[in-house]
Amino acid sequence: MVAELTVDTIEAKLGDYLQNVYRDLHQNPELSTQEFETQAFIKTELDKLNIPYKIMAKTGLCAEIRGGQPGKTVLLRADIDALAIHEQTGLEYASKKEGIMHACGHDAHTTVGLGVAALLQERAQDLKGNIKIMFQPSEEMPPGGAKFMIEEGILENPKVDAAIGIHTNPYLLAGQIGLKDGYILANTDRIFISLIGKGGHAAAPQEGIDAIAMAGQFIAGIQNIVARQVSPLDRAVITLGKISGGYTPNSIADQVELAGTVRTIKAETQSHIENQIARLLQSVTGFWGGTYKYEYRKGHPATWNDKRMVDLVRRATAECLGAESIIELDNPYMSGDDFTYLAQAVPSVFIEWGTATEGKENFAWHHPKFHVNLSSLKYGVAVVTQSIVHFLNEEAGV
Ligand SMILES: [Zn+2]
Ligand SMILES: [Zn+2]
Repeated sequence: MVAELTVDTIEAKLGDYLQNVYRDLHQNPELSTQEFETQAFIKTELDKLNIPYKIMAKTGLCAEIRGGQPGKTVLLRADIDALAIHEQTGLEYASKKEGIMHACGHDAHTTVGLGVAALLQERAQDLKGNIKIMFQPSEEMPPGGAKFMIEEGILENPKVDAAIGIHTNPYLLAGQIGLKDGYILANTDRIFISLIGKGGHAAAPQEGIDAIAMAGQFIAGIQNIVARQVSPLDRAVITLGKISGGYTPNSIADQVELAGTVRTIKAETQSHIENQIARLLQSVTGFWGGTYKYEYRKGHPATWNDKRMVDLVRRATAECLGAESIIELDNPYMSGDDFTYLAQAVPSVFIEWGTATEGKENFAWHHPKFHVNLSSLKYGVAVVTQSIVHFLNEEAGV
C-alpha cells in the first residue's frame, strides 16, 4: 500500500533522508563541469532506490522511472553545480571545500530530485507514464549543461512531453511557492567593449586621445538607454561590472576595457539596446576621434512558463500546502537559467520555491551567507511530486 502524498507523510517517510542528503551535498560542493563526487553520490542514492540512470554530459545523469501503465513522459530538472564563493554562513554543515559553496541552492534542487525519485519509484506501478529526472551539471557556467544533455538526447526515448524546474527563492518563505504565467526569467546577455584612444603625456592632452575621458562619457550615457529609451512598463537592466585601463598617473590612457551585462524580457527591447549601445559608441568615439571594439554576447534567452503547466503546480500547491501558500508573482526575475532550453522545447514551468526563514536575515543567491531553510525541502518534494502525478493523470484522461 502506497501512502497518500501529503506533507506529513513525506515528512514521516523522508524528512530525515532529505535533510541528510542536503547536508551531505552542501558540505561537498563542486564547481561547474567538475561534479564527479556529486554524480557518484547521486548514483549511489539511485542504486539504493533501484532506479536506472544514464550518464550524460560527462558529470550529469538522467534517472528514469517507467510507470506501470503507458502514458506521457515528464522531466524534472535538478541542477547540481556550485560556485567559487567562500561560504560565510557559519552553519555546522557549511562547505568543507575552501572557496567553493552551494550559494545558489542547487544542492537543494538535487535533494528534491532524489526525494521525488524515491516517492515516484514507490508508486511506479500505478503511474500512467514516465518520469525523467535530469541531474544537470554546469548551470552556472555558460553555455550550461542543459544544452549538452538535450544534444545527447535527454528529450527523446521516451520523448519528453513537459518539463518542471524548481529553484530556491530566498525572497519567499519556506512553505510558499512563487508562480507566474508567461515570462519568469530574463534574457541574460553580456557586453565586452574596448575604447581605443591614443597615449601621450598627461601634460599635453591635446596630443593624445584620452580613453578614460571617452569611457566617462560612455558610462554616463549608457544608462540613458534604459532610463529614456525603454518604456517604464517594460523591463531592462544594464550593469557595467568591470572596467580597466591606463598605466600611470601622468600618462594618457590609450585604451579602456569595459564588461557588463544586459537583462531584458522582450526580444525587441534586447535588440534595441544592442543597437543603441553601438550608436552611443559611434557618437562618443566620433567626438573624441577614437575607435572601439564591441561584442554583444547573447546568453540564455528569457524563460517562458506555460500557463497549463503553471496551473498544474497551482493545483498541486493548493492541495499540498494550502491555497494561501501560492504567491502570484507580478514580475519575472531579471536573472537567467539554462532551464530555458527545456522550456523552448516542451511546455514547462519554473517554480520559485520559498526557502527563506522567517525572522532571520535571508541573503540573496550567490551571497556567501545564502542559506536554505531545511524545512522547505519537504514542501518542494510534495509540490513537484503532486504536479508530476497530476500531469500524467490528466494526460491519461483520469
Ligand atoms: Zn546561480
Ligand atoms: Zn541557480
